[in-house]
Amino acid sequence: MADAPESTKSFRAYATEVLARTDKLSPQNMALLVSCMDYRYPHRIVDVMDELGLSGKYDHFVLAGAALGGHVQSWQDVLITHIEAALLLEHHIKKLVLLDHRDCGAYRHPNEIGVPSHILDKGLDKDILPSVEFACHLSVAEKLVPVLKARLKRLIPDFKIDAILLTRDEDDVLFEEK
Ligand SMILES: [Zn+2]
Repeated sequence: MADAPESTKSFRAYATEVLARTDKLSPQNMALLVSCMDYRYPHRIVDVMDELGLSGKYDHFVLAGAALGGHVQSWQDVLITHIEAALLLEHHIKKLVLLDHRDCGAYRHPNEIGVPSHILDKGLDKDILPSVEFACHLSVAEKLVPVLKARLKRLIPDFKIDAILLTRDEDDVLFEEK
């Protein structure tokens, strides 16, 4: 099972410590980032990867709900097909990074997007406790890891999967005097 990330580590810290180490990502050892479609996140992710000089060493795939979307069977098939296509194009993907995020609409409506009930039977409330939200994302990501590894075992024998829960990308104004 993948190591659970520390909840206090930011994506920037993770990318610096794990992805940008000199012996890590390269054109021969690429990562595939899988993030949610939510508009608040892609630019943050790309900015960090660019700053760390990781352009050309990763590909980026988008599924609503990221790890949760990976449990929707038809979406999982599309993800696998794209990884197979990347490998054919000599994008040597050896690692997948699931980039879930807090306050995710997909996690509030799992049934509507076709997530099997044994993965998540009830959507998260909008005001869910952060610790409960964390545990839910961890559970969903942990259930996806063996499925993806089994499907890609032949093509990527030593496939590694990490999972991160991105923080909210919004600051909340408590009040504003006009
Ligand atoms: Zn989302």
